[in-house]
Parts: sequence; C-alpha cells; structure tokens
Amino acid sequence: MSASLDKLAARAAELRRTLERASYEYYVLDRPEISDLQYDRMYRELCDLEEQHAELRTLDSPTQRVGAPPQGQLAKHAHLLPMISLGNAFDDDELREWETRLTRLVGEDPQRTYTAELKIDGTAVSLTYENGVLVTGATRGNGVIGEIVTANLRTVRDIPLRLDDPNPPRLLEIRGECYLPFDKFEELNRERTKAGEPIFANPRNSAAGSLRQLDPGETARRPLRFFGFAAAAPPGVTLPFSTQPELLDTLQRWGFPVEPHRQRCATLSDVTAFVHHVEHTLRAQLNFGIDGVVVKVDSLALQEELGIIGGREPRWAIARKFAPDIAITKLLAIEVNVGRTGALNPYAVLEPVEIGGTTVKLSTLHNEQLVHEKDLRVGDYVQVKRAGEVIPQIIASLPERRDGTEKIWKMPKRCPSCGTPVLRDEEEVAVYCPNVACPGRQLEGLVHFASRGAMDIRGLQYKRIAQLIAAGLVNDIADLYALTVDQLVSLERFAEKSAEQLVAAIDDSRSRPLSRLLNGLGVRHVGEGAAQLLARRFGSLDALMQASLEEVAKVRGIGDIIAHSVAEYFSETNTRKLMDRLRRAGLTLTEPQARSAGRSLAGCTVVITGTLPTLSRAAATELVESNGGNVTSSVSRATTFVVAGEAAGSKLEKARTLGIEVVDEAGLLRRVEGDS
Ligand code: NAD
Repeated sequence: MSASLDKLAARAAELRRTLERASYEYYVLDRPEISDLQYDRMYRELCDLEEQHAELRTLDSPTQRVGAPPQGQLAKHAHLLPMISLGNAFDDDELREWETRLTRLVGEDPQRTYTAELKIDGTAVSLTYENGVLVTGATRGNGVIGEIVTANLRTVRDIPLRLDDPNPPRLLEIRGECYLPFDKFEELNRERTKAGEPIFANPRNSAAGSLRQLDPGETARRPLRFFGFAAAAPPGVTLPFSTQPELLDTLQRWGFPVEPHRQRCATLSDVTAFVHHVEHTLRAQLNFGIDGVVVKVDSLALQEELGIIGGREPRWAIARKFAPDIAITKLLAIEVNVGRTGALNPYAVLEPVEIGGTTVKLSTLHNEQLVHEKDLRVGDYVQVKRAGEVIPQIIASLPERRDGTEKIWKMPKRCPSCGTPVLRDEEEVAVYCPNVACPGRQLEGLVHFASRGAMDIRGLQYKRIAQLIAAGLVNDIADLYALTVDQLVSLERFAEKSAEQLVAAIDDSRSRPLSRLLNGLGVRHVGEGAAQLLARRFGSLDALMQASLEEVAKVRGIGDIIAHSVAEYFSETNTRKLMDRLRRAGLTLTEPQARSAGRSLAGCTVVITGTLPTLSRAAATELVESNGGNVTSSVSRATTFVVAGEAAGSKLEKARTLGIEVVDEAGLLRRVEGDS
C-alpha cells in the first residue's frame, strides 16, 4: 500500500470507529454524543473514501448496514421485508442529482410523479397485522431483525389494534414512525431533570427510548404518537394499492394517522418548492420534530424496479434533509440583563455555533430557577436548539463532558445596571431591581412604551431611544412629551422632516386610551390583557390609583399577584410624580367606556390553549365572555378561532388540521378592540 493510501485507510478506520460508537450511543443508549450534522458529515466522508477506494470498504462498515444490532433484553422479530434507511440529499443540487440517477436508470418519463412527505423525527416501527388484527409491533433494529415491543406499541393510542376493513389482507406489516410531540417531549425532559435522570437529546431519541421500555406502563406514561407511511406484504398477498398516494389513503382508511401535509408533485421543481416551504414556514408551526422531507417515486411498480442499494437505501426515495436545529457548544458565561419591569433575566453567552444556517452566540435562560433546574454551569458543553424563528434555547448540559473547571452560577445580589440590592419575588421565580429610575430599565421601558401594543409611537424604535438617552434629552417616558423639533434636528440622522414626524407621532400618542398607557408603563405582571381589564373596570387613572388593593384584586382575571404589583407601583413617590407629569403633558388618562360593554366577539366560539404571555386563562375567558363570545374547551368545526399561547399542543394541531384560524394574545386583544 502506498503511503497516501495508508493514510486514507487509517482515516477510514478512524471514521468507522467513531461512527460505530456514535451509532451505539444513538440507537442503543438513545443518548447521542455528537450532532446529526457531525455524524452525517463523517458518514459522507467514509462513503466517499469507500467509493474512491473499494479496497477500503469492510463488511462491518457502518455504510453497509442499517441502525445497530438489537439488544439482548427484548425478544426479536424478523421483518417480512427489510426496513431500510434512506439516502440523504443535503441541498437542492443533491436532490437533482438523485433525479438524474433515476432517469439514467429508468429513462425520462413525464408521467413520473413524486410524493413528498414530512420526515418525522421519531423512531421507525413495524406493525404486523394478521387477518386485520395487530399481532406484533417491532422496532427497526438492524433493518432485518427488530425488537418486539408489542405491549408498548399497544399503548400508542394512534395505532389501530384492528384494521378498519371487512376484508383485510391475510398478513401485512405497516411501517411508520413513532414520535413524541414537542410539548410532551419537553414535559418528559422536565420530569427527568427533576428526577435527576439524564434528559433526552431530541424527540427522536426520547421516542426510541420510550418504546424500548421494559415496562409498558412506563411507555403509556409517555404519550407517543404514530404516523404510517409504508406497508409490506409477503409473496402471494396482494395489497390494494399501486401508488404511494393510494397507499397513504388506504392506511388512513384502515385507521392509521397519516401526516396531512404530504404533497403530490408532478416535477422536481414542485418538490423543491415544497421542501423550502416546509423548512422555512411549516416546520416552525408543527408540534413534532421533522428533519427533512422524504421524496418518493409514486409508482410502486417503479419502486420495485429501482430497488435497494446495498441492502441499506432505496433508489426510489431520498431524504432531503434540513439544516439541523440542535447543536452542541460551550456555555462561556451567564450574564444578566435588566428588563423593563426590573426583572433580572439571565442569558447565556455561547461559543458561536451554526444552527440551521445561522450563527448562534446567545440564548435565553428565562430565569434563575431554570438555570438550576437544568444544572447549567459556566464552562459546560450544552445542547442548543433553534427551531424556525424561535429564540435559541439551551436544552441541556452534558455533565459527562465536565472536567471539573465548570462553575455553578448565582444570580447577582445587586442590579448589574444600578447597583440597587435586588428583590426576590416569592410567588414567582423572578428576581428584580426595585429602582424605577434604574438606567437598565429605562431603555427597555421606553422601547416598550413606544411599542405597537402600548402607545404606538411610530418611528420611535430602539436605536432612536438609545440616541435620545445618550443625548441627555430623555430619561423617562414623560420626557418624550417635552421633545421639540429644534432639539431633534440638532441630533445626527435627524432631518427637519423626520424630527417633525417624530414629534407629531408622540403628540398623536396623547390620545391613546388608559389601557394602552397602563400597558406601556411596564408595571410588573401588567401586560396588554390586565391593562385592559383594569382600564375597563376603573375607567380612569385617578380611580385606579385610589382603588384599594382588595378592589383591584376583585376584578375578574386580575387576582392577588397583579393587584399587589399595581398597588406597589402606584405607592411609589416616583410613580406619583411621573403620573403628574403625564397629566400635565395632556395624555388621555381615561378609558372610553362604550367599548367595555363590547359585543365585538358576539357569536364567536373561542378555544384558548397554551400559556398566554400576559393573560391568565381566567382573564382571557373573562375577556372573551365580556365581549359577547363563548369559550369552549375543544376544537371543532364550530370553533370561530383559537387563541394559542406558548406550549399549545393538540388543540393547536387540530385547529390547523381543520383550517381554523389561530391568533395569539395580541390578536385576541385586537379583536376585542374591534380592530380586526
Ligand atoms: P434516517 O433517519 O436519516 O432516515 C430513515 C428513516 O426515516 C426511516 O427509517 C424512517 O423511520 C424515517 N422516516 C420518517 N418519516 C418518513 C417518511 N415519511 N417516509 C419514510 N421514512 C420516514 O436514517 P436512519 O438510518 O434512521 O438514521 C441515520 C441518521 O441518524 C443519520 O443520518 C444521522 O443523522 C442520525 N444518526 C446520528 C447519530 C449521532 O450520533 N448523532 C448516530 C447515528 C445516526
């Protein structure tokens, strides 16, 4: 062997070892140590090496087999036909190359169509039905032999125990993916964190781990779901379909859930357009993980003709993978930012890492408790997730990668911006700076004050506000109303016209009703919803300021926490001075009452799901009902719209399936106001 081939052989051996170990951690332990992207890159490198130098290919190479050998504890099942993996296309060009290969093999055919299906990030299972009755459920295992997990699969409510067919095939296997929806996955990881158990890296590993539980009771506690996408029958059994779309329709008819976003595509350009839509739009709306789109040749006869490469991947299908949304990186520091209400919010400074095509350097940590719950230590390796437009989140630390130099983080005892000793809110997990004049709060507070849901001052954004503060023109919200065109034109980037426009926009905000002002003030716990309830009930700022704590707490949807916060806010001398200045500046400090007896939701049937940013469930219900609407608990065709907050689950999914409009809290409030 030449020296350079020696080198390549050594590299191939190293790749095999690393991939082998990664597969074991991934498939057997359900705890991957490297990201899928890293795995896929190394896998690709090994494939290329083996292709260029056939002598480097070994029989035990990970490129020659599917999954990992089944483990000892569970009984084994031989699949009727092998359960294969899929080849990958990482971009549009690779997808085109796949089609070129097809055409080379079977010729050009304008009649050839494709079905593009979401690639569910779960774990593959095979369900054997004898005369229509589920007799065996198995994992994919090494593709030929899987593990029997029938009792566990019976706990998956999506899986029919009997096919809905008076004349079912004598014997067949239905293949599909078991997965754990995001909300359940997060719940499961929270529970595992509390119980001190290692958390799952992603929904896929959690589904695989849940399925291979020895105790079906344990599986039943983890609400797995199922989507069917393939079927296999032994020779002599004819299945009642000849194309992929017909197969999926039949599965549905038999009682299996089939992922509804699948698309039949006449050309590869249609497939590419669909892939882009899924990756950039649809993916962020789903309550389950996907890591690509599977493209399949529709005709089952053609599938048969094209066959399988090396017992591992079909030629007739390919996984067009997305850029991954989870990466592992180092937590360099935990810093604290002072929000507009004074809440101290920790955030993570990360070693820059690419996730889904974007470099992530920071990630939210929400609050101190979360840092401790997740046992995040400065210096830890952490898993970071970024799904769609969602702010990057740290899922977990990797304690096994610690070397002892990691530091446990503590919330500072003084506000990092003004040095005032922080207060701890016992009811909540928040720690906050009580100084209303804290400069850290100022900028955020002004940005919020000017925002659309509050005083809606056009043209007054973050940069402008920072500029006004830096120029010493503005310290608090009342200062805005004293700004003049002359003052503004003396600043950089202000022309006569833009200065006039800003002063006019500020002037215009004087007419906003009390509810907008209350929201804009940034009182802790008082967001858009609570501000509306208070403004409607009390009608004027004076009445609210004079109300007792009990009177405020009695307002439906307000409760003790908000009432205390309101009372504390208005009892501050600084607040009283500020309110006097706003009054002198000519702001509207009342709420038009006509709207409060609103009928803007008359005839509407509304479902509220998930956690809304400011309104409690009771407050949102009150808001809908007091505006003539009806709140129900389940989504049906009779639902007018669904209000969805964070961690909204099956109701949101159902609304999407039924095509029912979904709005967020701000959308609800706009409807109540009759704006839309
Ligand atoms: P795969 O997950 O890339 O694709 C094949 C599987 O996709 C099928 O078995 C099926 O279960 C699933 N699938 C989902 N929706 C489908 C649909 N609509 N139609 C058809 N199939 C659908 O392949 P694999 O062999 O299961 O796993 C290989 C991948 O696993 C690698 O590409 C890598 O990303 C990951 N992996 C990661 C590590 C790690 O350490 N991070 C280790 C091993 C494997």
